[in-house]
Amino acid sequence: MLELGMTALTSPVLDDLEAAAARQGLGGRAQRGEPLARHTSLRVGGPADLYIKAETIEDIAGWFGLAREHGVPALALGNGSNVLVSDRGVRGVVIEIACRRHTLTAADADGVVAAEAGVSLPALAYQLARQGWAGFEQGIGIPGSIGACVVNNAGAHGWSMADTVTGVLVLGPRGDIYTLPAADLAFEYRGSRFKHQPPLEREIVLRADLRVHRDEPAAIQARMAEYTASRRRSQPTNPSVGSMFKNPPGDYAGRLIDAAGLKGYRVGQAQISPKHANFFVNLGGATASDVVAIIHAARTAVREGFGVSLELEIEPLGDWGEEDA
Ligand SMILES: Cc1cc2nc3c(=O)[nH]c(=O)nc-3n(C[C@H](O)[C@H](O)[C@H](O)COP(=O)(O)OP(=O)(O)OC[C@H]3O[C@@H](n4cnc5c(N)ncnc54)[C@H](O)[C@@H]3O)c2cc1C
Repeated sequence: MLELGMTALTSPVLDDLEAAAARQGLGGRAQRGEPLARHTSLRVGGPADLYIKAETIEDIAGWFGLAREHGVPALALGNGSNVLVSDRGVRGVVIEIACRRHTLTAADADGVVAAEAGVSLPALAYQLARQGWAGFEQGIGIPGSIGACVVNNAGAHGWSMADTVTGVLVLGPRGDIYTLPAADLAFEYRGSRFKHQPPLEREIVLRADLRVHRDEPAAIQARMAEYTASRRRSQPTNPSVGSMFKNPPGDYAGRLIDAAGLKGYRVGQAQISPKHANFFVNLGGATASDVVAIIHAARTAVREGFGVSLELEIEPLGDWGEEDA
């Protein structure tokens, strides 16, 4: 569980913060009390005290800097496809990483794409495929932003970001901006150096360099179509966060939850998908509490039935009060 402070920020604090941003000429649309359910793939989550959509690297660095100076907790959000936000929401500032430019530097058969952190991984893969560049088409079904995909070492079909990233540009917790080569990122299964940092002190990925190579557009697109078809066969299409738990060594979380008899198990409008037991879906109007209840049920059943402790792949965010994801 992550708590970002339990008391909603008062409007004078937010007034000061927004006034300072205006004086600095910072861009970014700011909204008070913005429901985070609008920004998460599970369609769950209460309000952020202040929600900023920051579309340039300068604005991202500027807003994080101001939040730090004003003693206001600040958290990055990409596409919201790997988080469970509490019903009470997030105290402080949520900064949507919405910088979405990329440039390609090519030399014969190889190239490097410098993609800003808010670029959508599948959108970039599609665009590059059309231009005859391949390298991470396996990520076509991962609905994340490049920055968070680096943080999570997102992956599928035997590939992960660690195979493609050559380095990143990062905003440090004290406001300094620096590059890190891939060797310093400590990639691991669904994680990296960033995942081990407390979310409020986490380095923010601003841009990533991705290795690509030339291939026939039709061949890349055919592989993408196969990956997409394989997902359609095995995964539900309802709102979800993808896999809820990491696969334990040598096994699959979905297999264990299924074997514990919980496929289709439901609390309120949250359900363990009958199609894939590691996908927890929102049938329409689910609350974070409903989702927490099915998480607890799955963990308990798998621990009691098989002696295996399931570890969350997603990140619970916000003010949880008595509950605990
Ligand atoms: C239908 C579906 C299928 C999925 N399939 C897969 C899959 O096959 N493989 C897989 O690996 N994942 C999968 N996922 C999970 C998810 O898409 C990935 O984890 C993705 O990397 C999350 O990106 P995001 O932008 O949505 O991150 P968010 O959910 O917005 O954020 C995740 C975490 O990263 C932090 N963060 C966001 N941006 C930054 C940044 N720029 N710098 C530092 N921290 C940041 C946030 O604070 C948060 O803690 C799936 C999800 C869904 C809904």
